[in-house]
Amino acid sequence: MKHLVIFGAPGSGKGTQSKKLEEKYGIRVVSTGDLLRAEVAAGSEIGKTCADIIAQGKFPDNAIIFKLIELFLDKNSDAKGILYDGFPRTVEQAEYLLTLLTQRREMIQTVINIGVDEDVLIKRISGRFACAECGEIYNKYFKTPSTEGVCDVCGAENFKVRSDDNEETVKTRMMMYEEATAPVLDFFRDRDLNIILVDGMQPVDVVFHQIENIL
Ligand SMILES: [Zn+2]
Repeated sequence: MKHLVIFGAPGSGKGTQSKKLEEKYGIRVVSTGDLLRAEVAAGSEIGKTCADIIAQGKFPDNAIIFKLIELFLDKNSDAKGILYDGFPRTVEQAEYLLTLLTQRREMIQTVINIGVDEDVLIKRISGRFACAECGEIYNKYFKTPSTEGVCDVCGAENFKVRSDDNEETVKTRMMMYEEATAPVLDFFRDRDLNIILVDGMQPVDVVFHQIENIL
């Protein structure tokens, strides 16, 4: 069985790529958030323990997370592959995962790191505007209407901008992501794992093709 880990900054399209891998290759995506929510919904012992912690927006401690991962692997022993999404989050979790897989005579084949160009990402998000009539999305840097001020689709002349996705928000999100992820990637690099950097700024299908080539 293949074990893959996927990393990707906000805006990298990591979720989309994970879903495509699941659909095309029967690889099962494991996200600790989803596992926890499933336990809570099922009302299991672990779920009861975690419900309060999750309600407070916190993460349960590693003992619980590790238990869930083991249960997931036991239940999915017939899968062609497992893709870890949003796990490991810390070096401690990464150490645990390597140990667990070694015990099972398995290993991580590839770590997929979907990179984004911060400047491009900022332009993508802060340049976005939409037709107020039909909702067609434009971007002042990448996709302006062919006639300035007139929607290509419906001919309307009113446009609107969303205020919540501004340059500062994007920068903060990126910084938090880098700080959390860099030590885990360094750890994997030190262990000589195969880390593949994929350019997440390309179209979805191109990114997917790059990932397929390294599977
Ligand atoms: Zn329009």
